[in-house]
Amino acid sequence: MLDGDLQQKSKHLITLAGEMKGSVEVQCNRCGESFDVALPALLRLTISDQIAEDKDDLDIIEFLDGEIDLSFILQSEINTLKSEYHYCDQCDEDEEAFEMEF
Ligand SMILES: [Zn+2]
Repeated sequence: MLDGDLQQKSKHLITLAGEMKGSVEVQCNRCGESFDVALPALLRLTISDQIAEDKDDLDIIEFLDGEIDLSFILQSEINTLKSEYHYCDQCDEDEEAFEMEF
């Protein structure tokens, strides 16, 4: 599901340029209907084995045990996707129609 190139940037920084395939089942936030959304195709992450100094940089993934686990990265991307708000096509249309009335 995840193909990636790991590149050592510096002693403690590794970049991952990856391509994700597949989709994730999410629930519509309005009607509760389950549907699939595609994973974002391109993934670019910075991985560090040190605690990030800049806490604002959310793209940095910490791997303090020195082992990079691609399936863990993939799982966390999936969890992020699942925790976002999603509307199924039907509710999405309703939403647009609703907004146009004002
Ligand atoms: Zn819906």
